[in-house]
Parts: sequence; structure tokens; C-alpha cells
Amino acid sequence: MTLKFLGTGTSTGVPILTCQCAVCTSPDPHDKRTRPSILLEYDGRAVVIDTTPDFRAQALREGLPRLDAVVFTHHHADHILGLDDTRVFYFRQQAPIPIYAGARCMTTIRTVFAYIFEGNYPFGGVGKLDPHLIEGPFDLWGLSFTPIPVVHGNLPIFGFRFRDTAYVTDVSEIPESSIPLLEGLDILILDALRHKPHPTHFSLAQAMAMVERLKPRRAFFTHIAHELGHEATNSALPAHVQLAYDGLRLEL
Ligand SMILES: [Zn+2]
Ligand SMILES: [Zn+2]
Ligand SMILES: [Zn+2]
Repeated sequence: MTLKFLGTGTSTGVPILTCQCAVCTSPDPHDKRTRPSILLEYDGRAVVIDTTPDFRAQALREGLPRLDAVVFTHHHADHILGLDDTRVFYFRQQAPIPIYAGARCMTTIRTVFAYIFEGNYPFGGVGKLDPHLIEGPFDLWGLSFTPIPVVHGNLPIFGFRFRDTAYVTDVSEIPESSIPLLEGLDILILDALRHKPHPTHFSLAQAMAMVERLKPRRAFFTHIAHELGHEATNSALPAHVQLAYDGLRLEL
């Protein structure tokens, strides 16, 4: 199985529109971050976690040949707004695209993309989705996904564990009851926004403290804001903990 980082930036993306800071104007391609999402490819299947406003550009960049399912962490704009672009895969594959989301997230998706669910547009060109509510672990073509309840500001959302890898973006607190679900990891992908504390995201220091507690073999940080330059931040981190970057590919 391969895991690709489709995007590793915070909700604005990096560079931020109009910003002239050192990271937003950096010539290092690792400092260009689209909105946060990952792609899992295994047994000829392609599953993405979240469809960001950059989903189309990410799929083009990676030459994504098909899409078998979308799994959602939560309903914020930077995680759902690319969903319309999955329609091309529906046209190609002639089957509705399965989507998996918690109740709150599914309600927002049904509101924002009401025209898809109404299914009564007479002129064609609209996608089709096959919605599944996440109520516990679920299986996608032999790969088991365990939802990890985490807190994002005042919002309960999901991280996901598959095999010995976990993807936990947009998190400000991991409840004690979720800690056992994140033990014995090979790879932990974790939210690390910036140095300064933030009400809805882990800072770099908080993310580092969680890595030290959970002791995964390797950790990668994502949802990164423009305060963190790739090179400078990584050179200050231990070798087994690094900022991820768009296009980074891991063999699991
Ligand atoms: Zn986000
Ligand atoms: Zn900037
Ligand atoms: Zn969010």
C-alpha cells in the first residue's frame, strides 16, 4: 500500500493569498502547501481522506487514474469543498462514489452539495455519491479503518487508523479514551499548525509532546501554516519526526 500526501497546508494553503512573508515567497517547492488530504492506493483501489478545494489540482498532479471512496474527517470547508470534482470519476467508473462521514459532517455535505443528493437536475453533468455514516470501524476492500475520536476546538471529529498508520489532522486535544487506539503505530500523521498555540490545532510543541507520548516509529506533521518553513523546521526536529510535504509518498 502506498500513502501519498495530496496536501499538507492549513486551511488557507501556503502561500497565503497576498502574503509576502519568507515562507510564502520561498523558492523551496516544499514550502508550497495545498489543503490537507491523503491518498491511499492498494489492490488497484484509490481512497482519499477528505476532498479539499485543491482536490482537482492534486488529482491532476498525481495522475490519479480512479477514485474508489472518500473518507471524511470533518465538515470544514478546507476538507470538503472539492467533493464536486469526484463526479468525473463517477462518469468514468459508471458507479456512485462511496463517501464515509460522521453524522455532523454528512449533514453539512448534504446541505452544501444538495444538488447532488436531489438528483433531479434534468440536463446531466451532476455527480452521484453513495453515502455511508461512520458509526464504528469499517472495511474498504480489505483495509480496515478505525475512526479515532479527537477534539478540534469545540468539535468532535475523526482521525483514522488503518493497519499501523494513523492520520490525525485538525486536532487540539486527543481524549484519553482515544489514546489506546494510537498505540503501537508505525507511522503517525499529526496536525502541527505553527509554533504559537491555537484554539483548534496542535502547535508544533504540542504535536511533538504527543509523538513522545505515543512513540510511533515515525511521525509526519501536516496542516502546516506559513509560520513553519520546511527546511528550517525539519532541521530542528529529530530524524524520525518531520514535516510532511505535498507529493510525499510512503510505502506502508
Ligand atoms: Zn483543516
Ligand atoms: Zn506568509
Ligand atoms: Zn477543521
